[in-house]
Amino acid sequence: MSNVPEIFGSMVFSEAVMQARLPHATYKEVVYAIHHDKPLTPEIATVVATAMKNWAVEKGATHFTHWFQPMTGVTAEKHDAFVHPTGDGRAIMEFSGKELVQGEPDASSFPSGGLRATFEARGYTAWDPTSYAFVKDGVLYIPTAFVSYTGEALDKKTPLLRSMQALNKQALRILRLFGDMSVSSVRATAGAEQEYFLVDKSVYDQRKDLIYTGRTLFGARPPKGQEMEDHYFGAIKPRVAAFMKELNDELWKLGVVAKTEHNEVAPAQHELAPLFSTVNIAADHNQLTMELMRTIAKKHGMECLLHEKPFAGVNGSGKHNNWSMATDTGENLLEPGDTPAENAQFLLFLCAVLKAVNEYQDLLRISVATAGNDHRLGANEAPPAILSVYVGEELEGVLNAIMNEEKYAGSGKEPFKVGVSVLPRFPKDSTDRNRTSSFAFTGNKFEFRMPGSSQSISEANIVLNTTVAEELRRFADRLEAADDFDAELHDLIRDTVKENIRIVFNGNGYDESWVEEAERRGLLNLRTTPEALPYYMSEKNIQLFEGNKVFTETEMHARYEIMQENYAKTIRIEAMTTSDMVRKDILPAVSAYGGKLAKTLAAKKALEGVDCSYEQSALKRLCELTAMTSKAADVLDEAIMESASIAGCEELSCFCRDKIFATMSELRIYVDEMETITSAKYWPYPTYGAMLFSVR
Ligand code: ADP
Ligand code: MG
Repeated sequence: MSNVPEIFGSMVFSEAVMQARLPHATYKEVVYAIHHDKPLTPEIATVVATAMKNWAVEKGATHFTHWFQPMTGVTAEKHDAFVHPTGDGRAIMEFSGKELVQGEPDASSFPSGGLRATFEARGYTAWDPTSYAFVKDGVLYIPTAFVSYTGEALDKKTPLLRSMQALNKQALRILRLFGDMSVSSVRATAGAEQEYFLVDKSVYDQRKDLIYTGRTLFGARPPKGQEMEDHYFGAIKPRVAAFMKELNDELWKLGVVAKTEHNEVAPAQHELAPLFSTVNIAADHNQLTMELMRTIAKKHGMECLLHEKPFAGVNGSGKHNNWSMATDTGENLLEPGDTPAENAQFLLFLCAVLKAVNEYQDLLRISVATAGNDHRLGANEAPPAILSVYVGEELEGVLNAIMNEEKYAGSGKEPFKVGVSVLPRFPKDSTDRNRTSSFAFTGNKFEFRMPGSSQSISEANIVLNTTVAEELRRFADRLEAADDFDAELHDLIRDTVKENIRIVFNGNGYDESWVEEAERRGLLNLRTTPEALPYYMSEKNIQLFEGNKVFTETEMHARYEIMQENYAKTIRIEAMTTSDMVRKDILPAVSAYGGKLAKTLAAKKALEGVDCSYEQSALKRLCELTAMTSKAADVLDEAIMESASIAGCEELSCFCRDKIFATMSELRIYVDEMETITSAKYWPYPTYGAMLFSVR
């Protein structure tokens, strides 16, 4: 057993380390800046840089890097040595305030959606003191934002930080209205539960599709899949346990509290849940978690699959984003209180979330729209592509009572009056029951279940923070103008519930009837990425992001193009891999096996009265299937060629879905049937069974 308290955060330049190593006045200023979004002076930066460098060198660091999160969705780093020659043949370890605060990676190849072309070729990285620096593999990592010289965000962190500021500003206005003068900041919090698959490296190495695309493009159903549900919460295999232990140790050193881990429903699928933290730290930590999962799996002879749907017919992987708001005084703003006043404040924040989800369904859907996640949303293990909020029966009862100004069964004889009546206690497990909702209230936080396992959580949290900030802004405007605060508050909550109740759904989200019901309610059901993305640039959304200073319209355009581009690129890579596998491996293998069958058939036929029906029918079917496969492969190759000449990004992504992806799906049907007929000896790839049960 590792000594957790001893290793925990041992590689992090945390507040405690700063307190021990910085002059007291400097420490105070840094902490103030962190908690109040204030910039640090160059003098302070110099003092911090030196202390940080000395600490890092003691931890074995020789290099430092500005660690950032470009629009690729993975993190980027470029290492620089601390070493500075002194001119007399010696060298010293040095790190200046300027090197800490700003970096200039030559990063012109990251996607910018045309931003750098139109403005300024270079981008620079800026230190984010709110996320602690850390040492990993002999390198001091400094979390940074990545922006263009004219200030446009080129990454996922900058808008996340801006959205946190927007939320902070509006939430504080609300708290002041409730007479709270002690709180000085409100931070969004997140805990991202991460699902993943582990497969043995030997099978992974034989699958081009896993290597190039992260998912299997072919594969017939195995004799045993997840139907027995015997893997869920089952005993963890020793090899996986060893992996998890090392992962936990490394995460703990970096200050990531990996709290629970268990086997998931599908064979070879697992989950890791961290303890929640402020969203920008949670986003950094989730990126680290994914990276460490990959590298540590390799050390254990395995590969970690983070794709949303590595195996057809088997549960995919998501990343549940648990979200709430917390004050610097330690209060969770989504925790129902015990007194009528606390309850009223809770109900107002709850209303802001309900209204945000209802009015910005499109943006929340877009925040999780990727080619990979399209396989998952709406399939039978994930929430549907429809946004709805699960609140549980008790809370729905309260909302109904408020809306209709009726009495609530649990709250006595009087009609429910906000600010006067007390909410009942919501038993936690009853709110935890509904696992089929896309957005569920789980007692004192919301759980957004749509994000895909490989995605950065930044996108979803940018939308959550900004839309809730926007609703709080409107609430604050109305309440600040009111003569009678309590009466206005009551009416505001009642009206908001009334106007947004259509988003509340406590039923089974996997049920086909919900799709129809949602349509009757006028809720959006954006099934695929190309269908969802065009909603991004609507007037309503531009106003939202510009008004809250999270994105300019130009930045939105850039992001929109990148999202469209990513979709098309992903599909095209999958298509080219499909074509390559079919032409180079699958058709030749099946053809060779057909030759073998034909030989046997001819030999058998020469014998009088022998039943040749097996060889005959197998050969016949294989002939039909290879012909269809070869024809479809031609169609696919033509479509890939044609796509290169499509200029408009919307047109291209629709073409990719309707023509390329559709042909790939058709091909897969033929190939999977051929696999069931072809001798295992001839089949060129490990089967689903071999992959799913490869780690024993
Ligand atoms: P549940 O049993 O409802 O899944 P857990 O306590 O296991 O709840 O938490 C699930 C995830 O939610 C964990 O990652 C946890 O850290 C996170 N979480 C808990 N409280 C909050 C909160 N206030 N804000 C954000 N995330 C939270
Ligand atoms: Mg969960």
